[in-house]
Amino acid sequence: MRLYERNPYQKKFHGTVLSCEKDQKGYKIVMDQTCFYPEGGGQPADHGTLNEAKVLDVQEENGQIIHWTDSPLPAGSQAEGQIDWERRFYFMQNHTGEHLVSGLIHKKYGYENVGFHMNEEMITIDVGGVLSQGQLDEIEKEANEKIAQNIEVEILYPSEEERERLDYRSKKEIEGQIRIIRIPECDTCACCGTHVKNTLEIGMIKFLTMQHYKAGVRVTMICGKGAFQDYKKKHKSVMEISRLLSAKPEEVEIAVKRLKEENQNLKQKAGKLKQLFLEAKLEGIQEGQKTIFLYEENLEAGDLRHMMNALTEKGEYVMVIVPGKDSVFSYAAAGKKMDSREFCKAFARELDGKGGGSAQMVQGTVKGTQEEIKKVFLKTVEEN
Ligand SMILES: [Zn+2]
Repeated sequence: MRLYERNPYQKKFHGTVLSCEKDQKGYKIVMDQTCFYPEGGGQPADHGTLNEAKVLDVQEENGQIIHWTDSPLPAGSQAEGQIDWERRFYFMQNHTGEHLVSGLIHKKYGYENVGFHMNEEMITIDVGGVLSQGQLDEIEKEANEKIAQNIEVEILYPSEEERERLDYRSKKEIEGQIRIIRIPECDTCACCGTHVKNTLEIGMIKFLTMQHYKAGVRVTMICGKGAFQDYKKKHKSVMEISRLLSAKPEEVEIAVKRLKEENQNLKQKAGKLKQLFLEAKLEGIQEGQKTIFLYEENLEAGDLRHMMNALTEKGEYVMVIVPGKDSVFSYAAAGKKMDSREFCKAFARELDGKGGGSAQMVQGTVKGTQEEIKKVFLKTVEEN
């Protein structure tokens, strides 16, 4: 017997162990009755205990509810089952919140819920048609108003006749007895899951994200305790940003935009100054030299190539190094009268060098001090 269907608030039960078998996942236990909800209809499985055994997963197989536990229980024995109520109640809040939202969307726009998934963090709803952010904002507002109205959530088992007259949402054709979850004026839906007894217990509904998905939209949302925790986390973050930027919490968005703009301007200025600096530096280097070895802190990968092109006009053998972390330097090297790849070989041998390139120019990293690197550079020039 599925005790959760009639009373989703039942946290504890006594029952008889019908069978217990071991498999890869643990011990497969079947009881004569249970409060444990098996994963299904978008709702995750309950956790909890059967006597001392921990219930790790619950699934339905061929109409039977299977509890996977971490230790065995003898068949024929009595067991007390207890579900992890905090986890279950959170799923009940979220599941009911999902009905409310899907129902309101269906009522207002006629779109079906074509996919529903729930985990410990949030709910995902796939809506069969496209909704704008503004329309979703309205649904969210309306759903929260319905919560405050404390509407009773009904569980109905309609007869064949009643069923004919009933207009309800359903994902699949159901044969035999159906179970209807009705939130008057909001939603009527066939569902086997667990729900709270009135809308007030949903607590709150907050939409998180919306994206276009297939022919409609995918909406993520959270309810109840999760919505509060999310608010708490985000509030903390906003307060911290507010402190860092010395802006009012409600104005951090403007402050961040301003900061980004300033940053962009500074980057542009720094870029121009760097260019002037490099040009001045290049002007200071005499032409017609045999070797040029340059240590430069303020270069980036793109500048390195630009610098090399200018320097190879002035010298026969050129090397530029840029310091990185842990005495690793980025380098570029080129020799007009040799295969530049000879540098790579020498660096690999003596400076833990990595890198490569063409006969005209090589790039990579080397390890050592500035003096050590220069020595290997000059030695390689002499030897080639
Ligand atoms: Zn449901």
